Amino acid sequence: MELRIGQGFDVHRFAEGRRCVLGGVEIPHARGLLGHSDADVLTHALMDAILGAIGGRDIGTLFPDTDPAFKDADSIVLLQKVWGIAHAEGWRLVNADISVLAEAPKLKPHIGAMLERLSGALGCAPSQLAVKATTTERLGFVGREEGIVANAVVLLTR
Ligand code: MG
Repeated sequence: MELRIGQGFDVHRFAEGRRCVLGGVEIPHARGLLGHSDADVLTHALMDAILGAIGGRDIGTLFPDTDPAFKDADSIVLLQKVWGIAHAEGWRLVNADISVLAEAPKLKPHIGAMLERLSGALGCAPSQLAVKATTTERLGFVGREEGIVANAVVLLTR
């Protein structure tokens, strides 16, 4: 049995007039995240973790922000494409563990919905995924509510 681990990291800054989409769930908030796609920082970190595990290219290479096809793209659709690549190579997900660093909005009420969307895209059980949220105790750019950080780790097997 082959096992591969991958990690992904992403940051997006807050901006006025944008939606705040995390883990495929739109969260009511005064500001949203800036990016070429829907700027779903959590899903981006998860995609890069999967691509890291399979020794693939990163999402910036697969889905370049210079390509108008990915303008305001639904990152869950991109995640399905990334998982399609891994699945075609015979990989199965053991688990994924994701941490989101955000001072606001509060994510806890939305984590169940995120697990449903992410597991739907990956064709796995919600119990194979974990999404945890923390603040940075008001320190740094996360603490100043300038942006959100996401870290993801995945374990794949085939
Ligand atoms: Mg990103």
